[in-house]
Amino acid sequence: MAQEQRPDRAIPKDDRYSRQILFRGIGAEGQRKLADARVAIVGCGATGSALAGLLARAGVGTLRIIDRDYVEPSNLQRQSLFDEQDAAESLPKAIAAARKISSFNSGIVIEAKVEDLVPGNIEVLLEGMPLILDGTDNFETRYLINDYAVNRSIPWIYSAAVGSYAVTLNVLPGETACLACIFPDSPRGMVETCETSGILNSAVNLVASVAATEALKFLVGSVAQMRRTLLSFDVWTNERAEISAAKPRPGCRACGDRDFIHLAGEGRPHITLCGRNSVQIHERQRPIDFAELDLRLKPHGTVRHNDFVLKFWHEPYEMTLFPDGRAIIKGTTDTAVARSLYARYVGS
Ligand SMILES: [Zn+2]
Repeated sequence: MAQEQRPDRAIPKDDRYSRQILFRGIGAEGQRKLADARVAIVGCGATGSALAGLLARAGVGTLRIIDRDYVEPSNLQRQSLFDEQDAAESLPKAIAAARKISSFNSGIVIEAKVEDLVPGNIEVLLEGMPLILDGTDNFETRYLINDYAVNRSIPWIYSAAVGSYAVTLNVLPGETACLACIFPDSPRGMVETCETSGILNSAVNLVASVAATEALKFLVGSVAQMRRTLLSFDVWTNERAEISAAKPRPGCRACGDRDFIHLAGEGRPHITLCGRNSVQIHERQRPIDFAELDLRLKPHGTVRHNDFVLKFWHEPYEMTLFPDGRAIIKGTTDTAVARSLYARYVGS
């Protein structure tokens, strides 16, 4: 499902970008390049919100925001594009982000994609995007982005934050190290998640600020100014580290051997855990009629829907369905339980 919000008027001839144009690194020419630029942001939680907000205000002409999730009250502490009304309506994050951005910059194009980025749709979802920014919360999707980007020689910027720790890397395929050069396997320390370690909104905003600035450099053509290190920072302890990423690692699976196992989607399950006591069921061929399903589910629990999501509460479970048949089932980490709930109430 996609919703495109096209600007209904041209960029107004106001002085919106005047302070940015005054900055020597951007200038009038850089600002024109930003207006023509296209950037994909994969994941619009905390980091994705901050990235999208910064780049939208900076005047990046087209932002494609891809996110599979919906807004919840626990997001509001750090996910800067959402408000209480979005959480009350369980709006998909991509839709809520597009609405919020258009309220402060109606002169740019936001393409909202309510989808889970997987090997089967990555070509379509990232089509025509010369730069990819990481707003995800998991290494599986990051390795997928890395495989795609290295294979197609498209730059991308890795960003992550957990607890008080933030880390980021610019990947310029053919020149710098890629994510798999530095982390051949998911790093253990980063297996911590926001659910287990919590997160400071300031760690998120730090990493998003660094990554968004690197993106601006790329978009205005100042590639030489981009950082060639893996930069990490702990905003609580003030520990800071940088390791060189200037060159690919010999023997790297992705950029050396060009063995794109994540792009091939080997062993990719159709049911996955997605944090916070939830299971996601990926269904692609099951368009759902929310009005019809709403009636059918009413005798079995509380049900509510809008144009974007249908929510069904059946104690102790909470099921959120998207129009393409995808579901997030809260209240269990048992994939068999989730599968059977889905089969019983939606269809097998
Ligand atoms: Zn590599």
